[in-house]
Amino acid sequence: MRSPATLPGYERVDGEIPVVHARGMEDQATEVYRLLEAGAKVLSELLNSETPRFEAMLVTDEDWNEAPRENARAYRSGLPYFTRSIQPPALVLPATLSPAFRPRTEATYPLVVWHELAHAFFLQREVVRTPVWLGEFLPQAVSAAVARKMGLPLEEHLSEIDREPGLTVRSLRGHVDTYEQMTFQNLLLSLGAAAVEEFRDRFLKRLVYTLWGETEIVGEERAEELLADALGSGGREWLLSRPEF
Ligand SMILES: [Zn+2]
Repeated sequence: MRSPATLPGYERVDGEIPVVHARGMEDQATEVYRLLEAGAKVLSELLNSETPRFEAMLVTDEDWNEAPRENARAYRSGLPYFTRSIQPPALVLPATLSPAFRPRTEATYPLVVWHELAHAFFLQREVVRTPVWLGEFLPQAVSAAVARKMGLPLEEHLSEIDREPGLTVRSLRGHVDTYEQMTFQNLLLSLGAAAVEEFRDRFLKRLVYTLWGETEIVGEERAEELLADALGSGGREWLLSRPEF
């Protein structure tokens, strides 16, 4: 394993979550640092957990192929990800977000950062495989919860999401293109925000700890049951009534 996270010519903002960045990107790195720090504070309280040890890397397009990752082949540029291929693990953020990210509002970038931060928190323990929709629902609901706490214009952001895209979070299967992927993530954000609104954010802790306790691969049926139970009383009916689901 390579260690620590760095690339030639990159500098570092030290702190609880260090941010490694290309030279000349101090301002953006400071903004990322601020978002991570605020998000981690909310998440630690929400999950009653310490902030896991990891570093953030703000990577330019030119250096994208050199960023640490699981696979031999580089991921598509502009798409952030969390990787445990180095120690401490790294949250790799593109300096420029892929144009696939829609809608573009004041909340877009913070939501992306908190989404990845939620993955980092969740993956501090070993987790079993789950249906993709459940694994991505969690960070989307978390980012919505953080956005609400931080007073971001989440409603405005949600209002720009396509409400009837002709699919649901459970209907997406197999290989999907970038547009479908974005539609899927936006449906999950919408569902997550609605769940936080309806059930308050305490269900997130129940969901995370239940998932941490699972020892076998979580299938479709079990996934639905887990989420419904975590939501609490009336959770199942509510879930089935949601168009995104
Ligand atoms: Zn994700």
